[in-house]
Amino acid sequence: TESLTVGELAKKLRKEPAEIIKKLFSLGIMATINQDLDKDTIELICSEYNVEVEEKIVIDETNFETIEEVDQPQDLQERPPVVTIMGHVDHGKTTLLDAIRSTNVVAGEAGGITQHIGAYQVEIKGKKITFLDTPGHAAFTTMRARGAQITDITILVVAADDGVMPQTVEAISHAKAANVPIIVAVNKIDKENANLDRIKQELTEYGLVAEEWGGETIFCPLSAKQRKGIEELLEYILLVAEVQELKANPNKRARGTVIEAELDKGKGPVARVLVQHGTLKIGDPIVVGAAFGRVRAMVNDKGRRIKEAGPSTPIEITGLNDVPQAGDQFMVFEDEKKARAIGEVRASKLRESERRANTRVSLDDLFQHI
Ligand code: GDP
Ligand code: MG
Repeated sequence: TESLTVGELAKKLRKEPAEIIKKLFSLGIMATINQDLDKDTIELICSEYNVEVEEKIVIDETNFETIEEVDQPQDLQERPPVVTIMGHVDHGKTTLLDAIRSTNVVAGEAGGITQHIGAYQVEIKGKKITFLDTPGHAAFTTMRARGAQITDITILVVAADDGVMPQTVEAISHAKAANVPIIVAVNKIDKENANLDRIKQELTEYGLVAEEWGGETIFCPLSAKQRKGIEELLEYILLVAEVQELKANPNKRARGTVIEAELDKGKGPVARVLVQHGTLKIGDPIVVGAAFGRVRAMVNDKGRRIKEAGPSTPIEITGLNDVPQAGDQFMVFEDEKKARAIGEVRASKLRESERRANTRVSLDDLFQHI
């Protein structure tokens, strides 16, 4: 029901067109029988007759957003939280990511070569946490701009000797806009001029009030450099995750988001992805953004080849015909033929939108020279 004419609507409602026109008039809308009515007006008229308008979602498999997934509650299982680290430059994001990664080498996996795949997992108290490896706002903002929401929790790093800075404020507004809970990591607590209370005070102005001050925000003092307070931070993350009740259905075809991708000389196109729903398996026919193929190999963050990956698992995959983009969605389809067909339609749509964008740019260029 995108639009109907007055005549068509009258027919559907089994009313005389004149009656509908009168009704419209009483609502302040002048209309003729052949006039197109928009969705809101149609709904308004229908409600006058106590008729409910059913939204019909047209499934277009080349548009992943229209492919709805309804999971039964009993099919949902707990999944690890996906965490992003943000904060002002030099406040210690990279040091913290390194500290977390090395603090928590999973028993039995020691010796596994860590591999950069855009994200990594650590385990604490038998529970996993996934960290996006790109500190700063780039990953978060590009992905959000492309409609991908992958973060469950944000760690806001604030240096205890420096306080709230412009990028701190920016990070807070990004997290709030995305409705992602914030845990404040007050870093560099080892420094002589570190002042935890000052940080708490400054952040109250941005709506982040410490629990011990009657608010709802967890402040975790730590030293990323001396690797102190890291376990506490991880435990706080689990606490917040528990409240969020993060769940996914692992028993279906996989779906998720590209964290980064590149063309590797030896391996061809590689995509580092986060599985968000279902389980991705070797051999799965897949569409990733506008690329397609079969999952040839999967490598986890420890550099191990794996055969399948469930919700919240970051992995690197190969086997695609092309390099997708960060923020692209991926989906597994029932067979390779279908994946190829859908991938090809998506690729041509992408080319078309790029062509249009280029045309616009060159027109702008043209006008600049006039
Ligand atoms: P980023 O820009 O947020 O990624 O910050 P970095 O992790 O690169 O850290 C910036 C500087 O702060 C580096 O020189 C770090 O060694 C230092 N640094 C990071 N964490 C700590 C800490 O806990 N204590 C102290 N004293 N220095 C730290
Ligand atoms: Mg850094």
